[in-house]
Amino acid sequence: MVDRFDESSVTQAAERVRQLLADSRSTVAFTGAGISTESGIPDFRSPGGVWAQNQPVYFDDFMSSEDARYEYWRQKAQAHQDFADAQPNITHHTLAEWERDGRLVGIVTQNIDGLHQAAGSQNVLELHGTAREVACMDCDWREPADRWVRYCLTEDKVPECPSCGKARVKHATISFGQSLPTEVLRTASSWSRQAELYFALGSSLVVHPAAGLPQMAAESGAKLVILNRDETPLDALATAIVRAPLGDFFRSLAELGS
Ligand SMILES: [Zn+2]
Repeated sequence: MVDRFDESSVTQAAERVRQLLADSRSTVAFTGAGISTESGIPDFRSPGGVWAQNQPVYFDDFMSSEDARYEYWRQKAQAHQDFADAQPNITHHTLAEWERDGRLVGIVTQNIDGLHQAAGSQNVLELHGTAREVACMDCDWREPADRWVRYCLTEDKVPECPSCGKARVKHATISFGQSLPTEVLRTASSWSRQAELYFALGSSLVVHPAAGLPQMAAESGAKLVILNRDETPLDALATAIVRAPLGDFFRSLAELGS
């Protein structure tokens, strides 16, 4: 039996979730683009989003073609502005607070915006890497992204690695066609299997293998709470579904004093 809530029953949803949280000894949050829209970061997949205007550069092309690298940096320098100034919102802050209180094991995120860490969360597994840093594909060098985005914008050139001199420097994100970091995925799987309560927040739960994690949690016995704007393929596995803006839900929860 799935408990369903919408915009008109956010308070009841908050009460239900408060109880679930109190009963859980191991809670994990899985987050997607929907939690950052209130911070002004566009959902890349939405109509009119970045991907509707730009053809993404695939990893193999980036590695093999200078033109592809130039196109990659043209797009990224532009997109970087979108979240260079973004601030965490109530959802990020609440999760950080839960971790400080010992109520949350950690966060598994599909996001690359770094807003969980900006809110103070420490146990964050970034499945798709981070756009806050750049990394060299030919050696171990990596550094905060800001300076390199500025370089690219002012010089109109693809950056070269200061350590090895090669030009295959990109954001420390997982590009299309690039596989997910094994160690991160392994830890995320372990958290997911051990969770008693599992939140899937602001994710359409369609991008695999990431979406396999909430599924794994539910199949291993966790109570799955899905908060998302739209239906997801995992709705049938959920204990509770909240279809309301995330900010509204977390504000209601804060009003209950939890
Ligand atoms: Zn290098």
